[in-house]
Amino acid sequence: MKQRAIFLDRDGVLNHAIIKNGKPFAPLTLDELSIPDDAFAALSRLKVAGFLLIGATNQPDVARGTTTRETIEAINARMMEVLPLDEIRVCFHDDSHQCLCRKPLPGLLTQAAADFKIDLNNSVMIGDRWKDIDAGQRAGCQTILLRQDYQEEDTTKTASYTASSLTDATNWILTTLIEKR
Ligand SMILES: [Mg+2]
Ligand SMILES: [Zn+2]
Repeated sequence: MKQRAIFLDRDGVLNHAIIKNGKPFAPLTLDELSIPDDAFAALSRLKVAGFLLIGATNQPDVARGTTTRETIEAINARMMEVLPLDEIRVCFHDDSHQCLCRKPLPGLLTQAAADFKIDLNNSVMIGDRWKDIDAGQRAGCQTILLRQDYQEEDTTKTASYTASSLTDATNWILTTLIEKR
């Protein structure tokens, strides 16, 4: 049987985004990494329910020269230590590379689905930006928009669910997806 997965955006979902001038940015050092208090418990419940937990993150700052790949990998390694994630998949490209993995394209999700034999239609993408929701929808997943103060409004788009926290997202997944099976 195919596995189901929860794909989680990193900045603004697995860790608090760094807010500058009202816009969200990635932490640039381990000291700036701050993980929501409920993340461990929420992810643990999803893990126990049998979902693969896969981070899926755009990190164009390497291509833009404002951080190093080592810094991003050190932050990801710390997150892998403290959260029950199976993997964190990273797009290191910028728009000019025209890759297939930079969200809103679904490549990070579809590649993971091929590697792990994931049932995308019964999997979920959780993100704080519409590009995350677009990537999830293009991959055929359910989608959860995590509400944040800095969110851009887009009345043309809809997620399967809008959540106030990872705990809220987890409650929705466990009641909606588990009972459907
Ligand atoms: Mg984000
Ligand atoms: Zn890419």
